[in-house]
Amino acid sequence: MTAATHKFDAIVLGAGAAGLFCAAEAGKRGRRVAVLERADRIGKKILISGGGRCNFTNIHCKPENFISANEHFAKSALARYTPSDFIALVEKYRIPYHEKTLGQLFCDRSAQDITGMLESECREARVQILLNVNIQEVQHSGEFVVRSESAEFRAPVLVVATGGLSIPKIGATSQGYDLARQFGLKIVKTRPALVPLVLPKKEQNHYSDLAGVSAAVVASADHHSFREQMLFTHRGLSGPAILQISSYWEKGKVLRIDLAPDREVTSAIRKAKARNLTAAHTAFLGVLPKRFAERWLDLHAPKSWTNHDLDHLERDLHEWVIVPADTEGYEKAEVTAGGVDTYELSSKTMESRRARGLFFIGEVVDVTGHLGGFNFQWAWASAAAAGRAL
Ligand SMILES: Cc1cc2nc3c(=O)[nH]c(=O)nc-3n(C[C@H](O)[C@H](O)[C@H](O)COP(=O)(O)OP(=O)(O)OC[C@H]3O[C@@H](n4cnc5c(N)ncnc54)[C@H](O)[C@@H]3O)c2cc1C
Repeated sequence: MTAATHKFDAIVLGAGAAGLFCAAEAGKRGRRVAVLERADRIGKKILISGGGRCNFTNIHCKPENFISANEHFAKSALARYTPSDFIALVEKYRIPYHEKTLGQLFCDRSAQDITGMLESECREARVQILLNVNIQEVQHSGEFVVRSESAEFRAPVLVVATGGLSIPKIGATSQGYDLARQFGLKIVKTRPALVPLVLPKKEQNHYSDLAGVSAAVVASADHHSFREQMLFTHRGLSGPAILQISSYWEKGKVLRIDLAPDREVTSAIRKAKARNLTAAHTAFLGVLPKRFAERWLDLHAPKSWTNHDLDHLERDLHEWVIVPADTEGYEKAEVTAGGVDTYELSSKTMESRRARGLFFIGEVVDVTGHLGGFNFQWAWASAAAAGRAL
């Protein structure tokens, strides 16, 4: 029996943030578009994003908020579809939102407002969304032919919006990267990013019972620094400062953490009537959370309290040097760094230079945003760039 054949102007693989947005944009321009989604519903990752409230953009979005082997690539798309453009759409749908911190915009109610909006945009643009489609192969013979178990889809244009590898349990696949390779495109090595870090066993023994304790720090690696909160976990470190720096950290490299930014802690000990552990406790409790201050002094208090020793104590506090054992992996990562090599794509349209009609958008591309709504802004901007070019 031959499978039913469906013809479209464009096929989009993946009904996530980038795929739905691109399909709607192309549909509005009169293209007949199909979105093929492997899962049983659209936008699963949007629904779990931002703690269920979707941090859908960041009003301070700049090219510096993105990591890529080609640092200029994202500029064009980001300039042509800005946070203001997406906010205008959100406001058109009367979706209530608020700025949480640092320019991060979240839905007041739920991330479902964003998936609902994308679904409406697709419906209005007559986009066909097909769920539970298990793609078996993609071929190119004059046009793109996508085969599932029960049907065949044909179109002159194929947009790959299959996302990254993070959170495999909600359906992440490597098919986007596999397709890129199949059509001769290079891949920048992928790795988990915006991910908690695992401490080596010795440090885990020292700090694992502090799980849940957080402190304001500056975390640095590879010439990048983030001043935000750090959180102890059962196996290591998390919190915004650690998630941000994890995107720059490579296995085997050191991480430096200033545990008391802009504070001089030992001056109070130097001025105290008696230089001793009690004076140190008082000084440290003014700067670090109680349990962490006590643990730090258990491990780092000097034997004597000379100026030299206090210099050491101060220095250690501002430069806690650790070599994390690993990251918590794709199971806990918010995004995948690396991906389809941007030197292979047009920065204006996201079309492959090698295979005409083949586009890559969103997280599958080697563009990774910082924490704070930047990854969705990249999804919208890259999708708009492709959608307008179809
Ligand atoms: C827990 C969590 C919270 C997050 N919170 C935020 C946040 O608040 N703000 C922010 O900016 N970013 C956030 N992110 C990152 C953000 O969700 C992603 O960067 C964004 O969703 C990427 O969009 P995308 O369309 O490229 O991929 P996705 O949204 O992941 O969509 C890809 C789609 O393709 C489908 N798919 C995969 N393989 C196939 C296949 N073989 N065939 C057909 N379909 C396929 C998937 O099922 C999925 O629906 C978060 C991520 C996680 C994991």
